[in-house]
Amino acid sequence: MVESFDVLRLGYRRGRDPRITTHLALVARALGASGFLLSGDQDKEMFENLKSVDKKFGGSVETTHVKGLSHLKKHVESGGVAIHLTMYGEPFRKTIQKIRRDKPILVVVGGSKVPSDVFKICQHNVAVGNQPHSEVAALALFMEAWFGDSATERNFDDARLVIEGVNGGKLVHDKDSN
Ligand code: SAM
Repeated sequence: MVESFDVLRLGYRRGRDPRITTHLALVARALGASGFLLSGDQDKEMFENLKSVDKKFGGSVETTHVKGLSHLKKHVESGGVAIHLTMYGEPFRKTIQKIRRDKPILVVVGGSKVPSDVFKICQHNVAVGNQPHSEVAALALFMEAWFGDSATERNFDDARLVIEGVNGGKLVHDKDSN
């Protein structure tokens, strides 16, 4: 039983990365993370936007600013499992079978250059293919492999907006209005 599943985004640069980092947080939230942690620049506005997504679509992903490396060290020292997504890692589908699920999980993704200590501190360096691509794609594929179908079939009980129907018959229903 997983106690927690957090995603840590290293090296956030407010002037350069807000869109991709928001997408990363949205993927983390939608596919089942309990927390989204940002290291680098602070961005209250992004966290407020995420809260407003929670208000509409339910759930609540904890958003926190942290000091990346020291948070990572503490997580591992206190018995947690840290998984670094990197093109220089082991193939994710094979490696995922060996990762303990009974400890708090921290998934680490980079932005700008990733400090070499991250590779040493994390118990698992995991590649979603060995080509450079995107942290958003890497996280989505990893979480889908970790949680299985439930990653993309997740609904949150406290959602205010409910989407019903498909293929043009889509209806967005606001529980607060009649
Ligand atoms: N230039 C950075 C560096 O030196 O590590 C990498 C930048 S890359 C756009 C940003 C992040 O996407 C990486 O730190 C990693 O977390 C993730 N990423 C990119 N390609 C990946 C892959 N093939 N497998 C796993 N993660 C990947």
